[in-house]
Amino acid sequence: MSCREIPRQAEARTQAGVNEAAMMQPRAPEPVPIAARNGARVKSHGPMPAGLYRPNDNVLTPFMRSPDYVQMSTAAAITLGVMQGAMHRTSCTRCLNLLLTYPEGCRANCAYCGLARHREAERDYADRNFIRVDWPAVPYDEVLEIMARGGDGGRFHRMCISMITHPRSDGDTRVVLERWVARVPHVPVSILSNPTTMTRDDVRDLHDLGAEIFTVALDAATPEIFDRTRGHGVQSPHSWDKYWEILHAAAAIFGPERFGAHLIVGMGESERDVLTQVQAIRDLGGHSHMFAFFPEKGSLMDHLPAVPRQQWRRVQLGRYLIDYRGHGIERMRFDEAGTLVDFGVPAEELNRLVAAGTAFRTSGCPGKEAHDVSACDRPYGDSPPRDIASYPFAPQRRDIARIRRQLGPL
Ligand code: SF4
Repeated sequence: MSCREIPRQAEARTQAGVNEAAMMQPRAPEPVPIAARNGARVKSHGPMPAGLYRPNDNVLTPFMRSPDYVQMSTAAAITLGVMQGAMHRTSCTRCLNLLLTYPEGCRANCAYCGLARHREAERDYADRNFIRVDWPAVPYDEVLEIMARGGDGGRFHRMCISMITHPRSDGDTRVVLERWVARVPHVPVSILSNPTTMTRDDVRDLHDLGAEIFTVALDAATPEIFDRTRGHGVQSPHSWDKYWEILHAAAAIFGPERFGAHLIVGMGESERDVLTQVQAIRDLGGHSHMFAFFPEKGSLMDHLPAVPRQQWRRVQLGRYLIDYRGHGIERMRFDEAGTLVDFGVPAEELNRLVAAGTAFRTSGCPGKEAHDVSACDRPYGDSPPRDIASYPFAPQRRDIARIRRQLGPL
C-alpha cells in the first residue's frame, strides 16, 4: 500500500502546534449504489451467525441484530475471554463497551467516524473499524452468562451501551439494559446515547430501568464544527441544539456526577472553544470525556492530521483543572487565537499535577479506582501505542517525561 500524502497545508499547521479550522475539512461523502444501501448484501445473502464473529472483510458478514448480538471493542473481547490477544503495556480494559449492531448499521454520517453510513459500499457494518480497532460480535446471552458467573474475574468496573443512529436502537437499548441489570447488577451501566432519536421521556426510562450514567457524544466543540462534521455538511441528521436538549435532560434526570459529554480535540476548534464547553458541562454538574482527534481509516477525515500533542496536552490539563480541581476557565488566559497561554495555577502546583499523571489518562465514566479515573480506558482508541494520546494506565516516569516535553514550558 502506498503512503498517503499529507497536504502541504496540513503539514504546516501541524508544525505550528494546532489543527486550525480552515484545514480540518472533511471530504464529501460519495454516493452509495442502491445495491449496497441499508445492509442489502447482508440481509439478502448473509449467513446465519454462529457464535463469536471476528470482523473479516474477506467474507460476507453474518446477519446479526441487537439485542441478540452485540459488538464489543477488541480490548473488551480479550478481557471477557472470548478472544485471545495481547495489548501494549496493559492486560485488560475496565469497561465493557458494547455497541448495538444491525446489518443497516448507523444511519448517520459523522465525518470522523469509522462506522459512518457512507462506508456502506466499501464495508459491511460489523466489519468497520471504530476508534481504531475492530469490534467483534458476540451473542448477548453469552456475554451475560460469562458476567453473571464472574467470568471476567471482576476486571470490568463498568458496562457501556453505545447506541447508534438506527430506528431500533432506543428499544433495543432498553432490552440490553434490563437484561443486564437483572443478571449483572454489581456492574453499573453507562449509556452512550443517540440524542437524534431520543426524547426526554426516553432519558427518564433509561434512568428508571437502572442506568447509572448517561452520556452524550457532542464530539464537536462549536455549532459550526458540529454541523460541518456530523450535520448538514456531511448529509448527516444530527443537530447541535438537539444534542444540548438531551444533555440538559440528562443533567436534570440523572443529576450531578451522573452525566457527561464526549468532546474531540483537534477538529479545528480553539483551545478556548473546547474548554468553554468543558466549563459549561461542569457548570451543569457533569464531566467531559475527551478524545484526541485521530484520522480514522476509511472516515471522511482520514486525510487530516491527528491533533498535535502540545495542543492536546494543554487541553487535557485544562479540562482536568476544571473538572476535578474546581479551577474555572475564567482563571485561565488565552491568546488571540484562543490558545491557552496561562493555566492560572502556581507553577509548583501545576508541576505536581503533571507529575501525578491522572490528567493524561483516558477520560470517561469512573470505575472503582478513583472518582477522577475513568473505567472506560479505551486502549489506543485515539492514538497508536508508539505515541499515546490518552494513557489507558497510570503514566510511568518515562511517560511523564515525554508528557512534559510535549507540553513545553508551563
Ligand atoms: S452517530 Fe455515532 S456511530 Fe453513528 S456515525 Fe456518528 S459518531 Fe459514528
